[in-house]
Amino acid sequence: MSEYHNHSEAEIQDILQTIIDPFSGVGLLENKALTTLKVKADSIELVLQKSYPVEYAKNLLEVLIADVLQDALKKEKVNLTLELISNIFAYSYDHAIKAIPNVSNIIAISSGKGGVGKSTISVNLALSLQQQGARVGILDADIYGPSVPSALNVSEKPQMHEKMMLPLENYGLQIMSIGLMIDQDTPMIWRGPMVTQALEQMLRGTQWQELDYLILDLPPGTGDVQLTLAQKTPLAGAVVVTTPQDIALLDVRKAVKMFEKVNVPILGVVENMSSYICSQCSHEEAIFGQGGGEKLAQESQTQLLGSIPLDIHIRTAIDAGMPTVAKSVISQECSSVEKEISERYHDIALRMVGKLAGRKKDYRSLFPKIEISDT
Ligand code: ADP
Repeated sequence: MSEYHNHSEAEIQDILQTIIDPFSGVGLLENKALTTLKVKADSIELVLQKSYPVEYAKNLLEVLIADVLQDALKKEKVNLTLELISNIFAYSYDHAIKAIPNVSNIIAISSGKGGVGKSTISVNLALSLQQQGARVGILDADIYGPSVPSALNVSEKPQMHEKMMLPLENYGLQIMSIGLMIDQDTPMIWRGPMVTQALEQMLRGTQWQELDYLILDLPPGTGDVQLTLAQKTPLAGAVVVTTPQDIALLDVRKAVKMFEKVNVPILGVVENMSSYICSQCSHEEAIFGQGGGEKLAQESQTQLLGSIPLDIHIRTAIDAGMPTVAKSVISQECSSVEKEISERYHDIALRMVGKLAGRKKDYRSLFPKIEISDT
């Protein structure tokens, strides 16, 4: 007698309906996720369509679903075959702000102040989404320290094609940076007024090829420049990066408020340099105390997406133009600590875009598409 013959597809579907997708926070089968469910003699076959990249999510969902089915069906082991299809929606649409052709979702990475590791987080999260199967670009709008080109080891001036700039490419990312647009010798005082215009030019004057996500590395702080950028860009959501020290946490509250003011949903908070990893013995210690990011996220009614430790390898990898997440798949010399840090970035990246995927509406059909011819 077959193992699953007692159980109808409807019964299995009822069980699956009770599961909350840990990444989107909505029901596992919501947003028309269920594509195929077959109860076979010796296995349960399930195909789900998800609006986030699925490479990293698959193993985690498989374990979760198998566990729930095991419990519900009172079996020691359930033979589950899970296939995930990634079909990433476009979430930002505001009639007042023109959409960017070929770009589905722009996610702003911000911080209350400089030096907290916003750019480091931005490049690693962008790389992580790319490795998880998404099409990803990064736009560096940090006027005070455009560090994305050196972090991703690109330096050429962007080429022009039919009056549009072609993004630079490395590690599978499409890259554009204010560092490639403004003269580094321009006095800082002029950069504020120039930056909104330059950003518009970078956003709309770049010939992005189909992107699921464009990561926007904002200048640090919560002043007029940042507010204008947040207002003028069709953002799907924003992430706030902080370090555990109290003073940074005060600044970060302002950043959360800024996005609330312009109705941009906060996807969550990332705590950087949350603990210290000793380069000699790999021992991890929370030297600034624990729980700051969590507390802030709760207070601001948002979530802590995750924490990244203070580790010398993160800095040396960025300095060498091969950020930790890229190094983890390219370099033979990647240590186990670095691999573990990459996993943390993967987790944070997935939670970040998973939060978007909790929303129902897909605006892709309204977005202008531009066919890119070979140049
Ligand atoms: P921001 O963009 O907020 O100004 P950066 O990303 O440029 O900050 O980071 C500032 C410095 O700190 C850089 O030298 C970077 O390599 C380093 N850094 C950032 N995050 C970490 C970390 N988790 N561990 C070690 N060094 C880090």
